Amino acid sequence: MKILVPVKRVVDYNVKIRVKPDQTGVDLANVKMSMNPFCEIAVEEAVRLQEAGTATEIIVVSVGPTQAQETIRTALAMGADRGILVKTDDDLEPLGIAKVLKAVVEAESPDLVILGKQAIDGDNNQTGQMLSALLGWSQGTFASELGLDGDKVNVTREIDGGLQSVKLSMPAIITTDLRLNEPRYASLPNIMKAKKKPIDEKELAEYGVDAAPRLEIVKVAEPAEREAGVKVETVGELVDKLKNEAGVL
Ligand code: AMP
Repeated sequence: MKILVPVKRVVDYNVKIRVKPDQTGVDLANVKMSMNPFCEIAVEEAVRLQEAGTATEIIVVSVGPTQAQETIRTALAMGADRGILVKTDDDLEPLGIAKVLKAVVEAESPDLVILGKQAIDGDNNQTGQMLSALLGWSQGTFASELGLDGDKVNVTREIDGGLQSVKLSMPAIITTDLRLNEPRYASLPNIMKAKKKPIDEKELAEYGVDAAPRLEIVKVAEPAEREAGVKVETVGELVDKLKNEAGVL
């Protein structure tokens, strides 16, 4: 069984985001970039399926700038077999990414595509669903458990207020939620081994997809700063402030 894992290079989750002064986007100058955490979970799950003897090959694909090679190398160090980098300096929207991924799927014929449920930069949560629609494949989104059962895959989905179990026919699309697993750190020997694993470099134009933007980002703004709290001396003072200052009573 072949698994394709799309991975995105994003601002590291520990970095405090700075909005550009002209509010056109996030300042990426000299900012640490890493693999999107939900993509790490997707790679980990694929590697576990390979260790269990069910997956035979794991291919990672990233659509992005040359530096996205590092993200692919991280996935190779975790255990993936080979990578594909689709080079572009444009920040494609989920529909554009999904169209490229569809072309990669058609070339590679995987049985499963495991994506992150969302990329923590744009918080779109759209690519897996769009890819599923473009391919006409079943989808199990927000997976917190996954089990193979012949040519079917059982997925436990995290939904509002509970869990939903679904059985999908393969080939299928899975998107990962936080509780699916805890991704491993790559060991030094595996980081060294990953340097020799192949990464196929492609240009976006080779896929011939219409990835032109459909929407315009009008403005990006920082969240309002939290105001400092105050200590009150008595219950009476609290009630007074709630009534007369906060207006909630
Ligand atoms: P999003 O829909 O942008 O929130 O992203 C959801 C998932 O789609 C990510 O976790 C990745 O698995 C995949 N994805 C999004 N953008 C890219 C990209 N540029 N290259 C590869 N995979 C991507």
